[in-house]
Amino acid sequence: MSKNLYVISGPSGVGKGTVIREFLIRNPGFMLSISCTTRAPREGETDGINYFFLSKEEFQRYIDQDKFLEWAEFAGNRYGTLKKFIDQCLALDKNIILEIDTKGAMQVKSKMPDAVLIFIAPPSFEVLEDRLRGRHTEDETAIQKRLDEVLEELARAQYFDYKVVNDDLNRAVNKLEDIIRRQDAQR
Ligand code: ADP
Ligand code: 5GP
Repeated sequence: MSKNLYVISGPSGVGKGTVIREFLIRNPGFMLSISCTTRAPREGETDGINYFFLSKEEFQRYIDQDKFLEWAEFAGNRYGTLKKFIDQCLALDKNIILEIDTKGAMQVKSKMPDAVLIFIAPPSFEVLEDRLRGRHTEDETAIQKRLDEVLEELARAQYFDYKVVNDDLNRAVNKLEDIIRRQDAQR
């Protein structure tokens, strides 16, 4: 693999999507994997752009057909990365970003040891909860399920190659750029 596969994880609401969006504006050559999920689309989300939204049955069929590089259950829904997308990007020699949960990140690392794992951490639990609630995309039950995953996600941070604290957005994106620039220079 001549190009890098970057896996970005962190608790729900920490700002992964926000940091990655800003990174991609500054670095348009990177390919962001579009995952499959069984969760319902949020307002403003589009099938094939934010996710491929699948029924539970379709997702199970994809598992049976071995279409996923990795997949995991998170807060009551299933999420998975399509092998096809990764293979296409690698064939085109593109840098790839996966935004996935920590269980999925562990699977990617075991299958593709050259993958670079970056953990986005919150400045504090209180800030994380405020961001998750402030996004207004989940009801209270779904917020609780996501908060229930936080400790497990934080515990897996030790297996990551890098940690970026998302306090100030600009500072976090700068740090991500530094990490990726250094990694690219090593290739
Ligand atoms: P994730 O993708 O990790 O679930 P989001 O990117 O959706 O998180 O961010 C959750 C909320 O936090 C959003 O409302 C976003 O605008 C806000 N947010 C993200 N990063 C920051 C930051 N550095 N400072 C303040 N608010 C932030
Ligand atoms: P959300 O529902 O907020 O979009 O995502 C919930 C969690 O699922 C986040 O931690 C996100 O990173 C993770 N996720 C998104 N896509 C994938 C995927 O393809 N695989 C895995 N394992 N997790 C994913």
